[in-house]
Amino acid sequence: MRKHPRTKLALTERIVMKALVYHGPGKRAWEDKTKPTIKEASDAVVKIARTTICGTDLHIMKGDVPTVTDGRILGHEGVGIVDEVGAAVSTFKKGDRVLISCITSCAKCDACKKGMYSHCATGGWILGNTIDGTQAEYVRIPFADTSLYHVPKGADEDALAMLSDILPTGFECGVLSGAVKPGDIVAIVGAGPVGLAALLTAQLYSPAQVIMIDLDDNRLEVAKTLGATQCINSTDGKSADRVLALTDKKGVDVAIEAVGIPATFGVCQDIVAAGGHIANIGVHGKSVELKLEKLWDRNITITTRLVDTVTTPMLLKSVIARRLEPRKLITHEFVLDDLMKAYDTFGDAAKTKALKVIIRSA
Ligand SMILES: [Zn+2]
Ligand SMILES: [Zn+2]
Repeated sequence: MRKHPRTKLALTERIVMKALVYHGPGKRAWEDKTKPTIKEASDAVVKIARTTICGTDLHIMKGDVPTVTDGRILGHEGVGIVDEVGAAVSTFKKGDRVLISCITSCAKCDACKKGMYSHCATGGWILGNTIDGTQAEYVRIPFADTSLYHVPKGADEDALAMLSDILPTGFECGVLSGAVKPGDIVAIVGAGPVGLAALLTAQLYSPAQVIMIDLDDNRLEVAKTLGATQCINSTDGKSADRVLALTDKKGVDVAIEAVGIPATFGVCQDIVAAGGHIANIGVHGKSVELKLEKLWDRNITITTRLVDTVTTPMLLKSVIARRLEPRKLITHEFVLDDLMKAYDTFGDAAKTKALKVIIRSA
């Protein structure tokens, strides 16, 4: 019934917006795209107020993520203002300020009913992957009622942008899967944004020590200011020996892998104590060696997980109450029109010392 007038509108009044578009490995552009519209009754269109760039976006730019095709708008993190909602959306209305989850949840499929939104039959990680993402002036959010969160009045929206992905990722895949408890010795291998998010959220459980391991002294300095009790530069390849020296040769209760390469997963296996957990967060592109000849009798739990963002409501409350301060992860600020520059800065982190960049609409 409404098809004809809509088609007419689309033909005569195509509204254009700017977006960061992937054009194959190594190629991206800040260019004109059609502003998204409501496709399904459960959709919302959100005007972006804050977005950021993830390590995953850099993997996409290298061509490591084949589900992302030429022409895709990147980005799966952000905070915005609801611009339009579909007929079935009941929790949000035009003008509401919202946090966008990197994971889309239909809330109805088997996986969603288990709280495993990352494996939602029709959602999961789709933003900036199989559908257009948040590094644009506007984004269409499917299943808006169960994939957006209200931003409390007066909240620090820069900090909330850290809740779209890295904070729940560090918390769920690292801290919860690793079962961090009061008094534990925790080691986090990798002090990038997600490793640091694990460091921040691990402290909710009062571990006795959090040992941070990385190649970059700058990142280790930051880790110290965020609560790391000891920092180890692993450039010499002897980080496992040092962790054992720090722990009376017993090793750590929880080893969190936040890099995603065989060497760092190997370190986790070398430093885990009897009865300990190895919690993998890193995205692995290569097979790793499992040292079962050493671990078979040591009561070790190894976990893998993709973030479900099921803890986002809890983390949101903790950030508002300032029990967690993810703003400290932000090192650089840009306006939306400078997204290309933001990518250059974030992509050259060793030189620019970038952790998270915040990109604001003007
Ligand atoms: Zn991400
Ligand atoms: Zn689902």
